[in-house]
Amino acid sequence: MKIELKNVDFSYDNKNKVLKNLSLEIKDNESVAVIGQNGSGKTTLVKQLNGILKPTGGDILFDGASIIKKSVAELSRHVGYVFQNPDDQLFLSTVLKELEFGPKQLRFGNEKIEQCVKNASEICGLEELLESHPLDLGAAKKKFCTIAAVLAMDTEVVIFDEPTMGQDTKGVKRLSEIVHHLKNMGKTCITISHDMKFVAANFERVIVLMQGQVLLDGTPEEVFSKPDLLSRSFITPPPITRVCQKCGIGDHVFTVDAFQKHVKSAKGIEY
Ligand code: ADP
Repeated sequence: MKIELKNVDFSYDNKNKVLKNLSLEIKDNESVAVIGQNGSGKTTLVKQLNGILKPTGGDILFDGASIIKKSVAELSRHVGYVFQNPDDQLFLSTVLKELEFGPKQLRFGNEKIEQCVKNASEICGLEELLESHPLDLGAAKKKFCTIAAVLAMDTEVVIFDEPTMGQDTKGVKRLSEIVHHLKNMGKTCITISHDMKFVAANFERVIVLMQGQVLLDGTPEEVFSKPDLLSRSFITPPPITRVCQKCGIGDHVFTVDAFQKHVKSAKGIEY
């Protein structure tokens, strides 16, 4: 599903604009990270896409049709949104009930509900926890419960708000697998993140917001190779990228593997 934002304005108080004449296009099946300083408008932006917030100016289109007048319920068929704080999302007495809730609201048949719940619980590592109370889970598992509840709805677009927050290495690895799984399933994945290592390693496009406008928009290579511009939004590229940029051994190094390749191919270095 193609998403278009056309000259979108948004204000919470009818005075200060949080989104300012913002235009963007997100193609079907893109994986997009939205980054930027706290307060730059990231959450406000993604909440326009599922109708929780409505633009105060401009238009938003899904496959060419305006969604401005559509309700959150209607849009939830297309866009799944994982809240930043699991306590804002979880409200049922078992993990299984949380996972079944969305598909039931969307009136999926029993067989599809069962399949969607199975797939979501497997990819989120919750198979053994289906009868647990969500609020008894640790913070990391609770987050995966909210993610699984949204994945079970099988929407074309999935939005994550700060998914790596509070996750250990294993959790971040699982999140990376989920992002790649969504890509392979043909879905669009939009993720707000402050974790530049996660962003650089897992997304094909990075949008940098600053004061409600797009500062930069491109591949991780394009975005993270502009540290001076990024610093205006108080963003620093991933640590390994900064080391390589400072040492002059490449602007586009995001992973340990890429680092090794660069160093090994550099002239004059023996192993
Ligand atoms: P980010 O996700 O980039 O941290 P937000 O979209 O949460 O930014 O916030 C953008 C701006 O809107 C901030 O100045 C914030 O204080 C303000 N804001 C966010 N939510 C509300 C709200 N519910 N009411 C009033 N102002 C808000």
